[in-house]
Amino acid sequence: MRIPMIAGNWKMHTTRAVASQLATALTPLSMSSVAEIVLFPPFPYLVTVQEQLAHSRLRIGAQNLSNQSVGAYTGEVSAGMLVDIGCSYVLVGHSERRALYHETDVVVAEKFVRACGAGLTPVLCVGETSEEREAGATFSVLARQLAAVWDLCGVNAHAVGVIAYEPVWAIGTGKTASPEQAQEVHAWIRSQILKVDAKIAGSVRLIYGGSVKASNATELLSQADIDGALVGGASLDADEFARIVRSLDG
Ligand code: PEP
Repeated sequence: MRIPMIAGNWKMHTTRAVASQLATALTPLSMSSVAEIVLFPPFPYLVTVQEQLAHSRLRIGAQNLSNQSVGAYTGEVSAGMLVDIGCSYVLVGHSERRALYHETDVVVAEKFVRACGAGLTPVLCVGETSEEREAGATFSVLARQLAAVWDLCGVNAHAVGVIAYEPVWAIGTGKTASPEQAQEVHAWIRSQILKVDAKIAGSVRLIYGGSVKASNATELLSQADIDGALVGGASLDADEFARIVRSLDG
């Protein structure tokens, strides 16, 4: 049985006060929901949010980490530091990191390895652009992104991990993948893992991200291979995010 996961990626939004208000508003939700709820605040607010959530079932994660473990890397934050302040999860390879900060598949794979090595659960983000989808290259792009990680650490790495399918054309655009489109890709990802390890294929959580809102969550989350959602914009509104979480509870 896969425990569904609803994650909120706050990106470079909120202030410390707003982050704190959101965390307070969402805390009761974790007591009543079947889902594992994970919040991804900006780095400077991780400790504030972590302290507030310490006695709840909500978990926190970071939006990024360094591909280095320690040393003279000004401005970087290591996996060990994230564990030290109470993070359980980390996003790896979000499309904004890949596109705007030129993170290559290799760098993403190195970050994935650092996360696993420190005991963080990586949420590996993969997805195609609209041009790639229109060119019929969706599966080859995903295969390339996944292979970079599997070459370095094997499919075994997903024994505890999460993969987020986030079509780039759906992130922050209001254009959601249809439930059928998302399910098709999720089933394909699971089938690729199945070729190597049936147990991991059955247990790995595959979550969908891309303009998820309360109004489309039920249909998306009812698909057989969609085990949760990575929510950007809608996670900044506590009521909307709570409605997305509750859509799992029937
Ligand atoms: C995201 O940031 O990963 C995301 C999916 O954003 P949005 O929900 O705003 O599309």
